[in-house]
Amino acid sequence: MTKDLKDKGLATQAIRGGLVRSGFKETSEAIFLNSGFVYDSAEEAAGRFLGENDGYIYSRYANPTTSVFEERMCLLEGAEASRATSSGMAAVNLALMSQLAAGDHVVAPKALFGSCLYIIEQILPRFGVGVTLIDGTDLDQWKEAINSKTKAIFLESPSNPTLEIVDIAAVSEMAHKVGARVIVDNVFATTIHQKPLELGADVVIYSATKHIDGQGRCLGGIVLSDEEFIEEVVAPYHKHTGPSLSPFNAWTLLKGLETLELRVNKQTETAGKIADALADAAGVARVIYPGRDDHPQAALAKQQMKGGSTLVAFEIAGGQAETFAFLNRLELIDISNNLGDSKSLITHPTTTTHSSVSDELKAELGINENLLRLSVGLETTDDLIDDLVSALRG
Ligand SMILES: *Cc1c(COP(=O)(O)O)cnc(C)c1O
Repeated sequence: MTKDLKDKGLATQAIRGGLVRSGFKETSEAIFLNSGFVYDSAEEAAGRFLGENDGYIYSRYANPTTSVFEERMCLLEGAEASRATSSGMAAVNLALMSQLAAGDHVVAPKALFGSCLYIIEQILPRFGVGVTLIDGTDLDQWKEAINSKTKAIFLESPSNPTLEIVDIAAVSEMAHKVGARVIVDNVFATTIHQKPLELGADVVIYSATKHIDGQGRCLGGIVLSDEEFIEEVVAPYHKHTGPSLSPFNAWTLLKGLETLELRVNKQTETAGKIADALADAAGVARVIYPGRDDHPQAALAKQQMKGGSTLVAFEIAGGQAETFAFLNRLELIDISNNLGDSKSLITHPTTTTHSSVSDELKAELGINENLLRLSVGLETTDDLIDDLVSALRG
């Protein structure tokens, strides 16, 4: 089934990939809300555990509904295998901890989602893993940081919240010279705009909580890569430590995938219009949007991404007081730290998602007190622009 869809368009893959119908021939995917499975005989049970006959054993290892989600994601991402997880952070942890051991070294940009930075900066060193944090936009710093002990590279592009772009192909080439695996957190780009594996990365992770669900309903995540890494490294860690995705959430995420391309393309189109409107509006000091020519890495963004982004970062003219006053004047757009939702959501990163980051690092990353991150939803474009422009006017 999956094979037949390899050359199909994104929407076809996102709607039909991995579909397995039960004996009832239901149209929509069935939800298998069961933890365990039964065997016809003791011999069959014994054989299943020896891997001599195919079938499910226990939903911590694998479940029919979760498998459809994994298959569909593999198809979209061009990956050979994957493991779904209970959240995006479980996926980040799984991708890193399953392959690292004391003495290994990891390189990552400082511009990371707060919890990703916490795992890399705070947790990995407790297990004897060396960590070097760099400016991900500077290829010289990557070159200097990667060494013979480097086992994994972890990066986000575009990054949260300042939408910095990392050159995935160039970093992958450097990493592969020393045999290191490149893990890309592709949440901000989505599979619609960027295919990290095609660019040379080895592993892709998602918080499916964001655009894949896209409707604020559930948490989920996934790690995708080649068969060998997933089955030999990721799968045993996943099976024995249990960050498994609930079958109900897998089903919800499958429903989300069906509209992923429509939603992301529409949200990106609206985000582009909002970025332009904000750039022209009084009261805005700066707009950061990968789809605009004034983005510091506009050429690189065009080269490795098919579209801009569903997120727009911008700075209010003024300090925190003016920025809070602007936020509090918004009537339609919600103040929330989530993203990728059909509802437009706006965040003040320095006091929320990045409040645990040191002042020095925030200054270095440009996470200023007047910076806002807008996740553009599916509302009528003019209504969103009106809300922003009215709130800017005061
Ligand atoms: C939200 C997010 C995560 C974490 O995902 P959860 O599903 O909330 O655990 C990781 N990386 C990025 C870039 C995110 O935006």
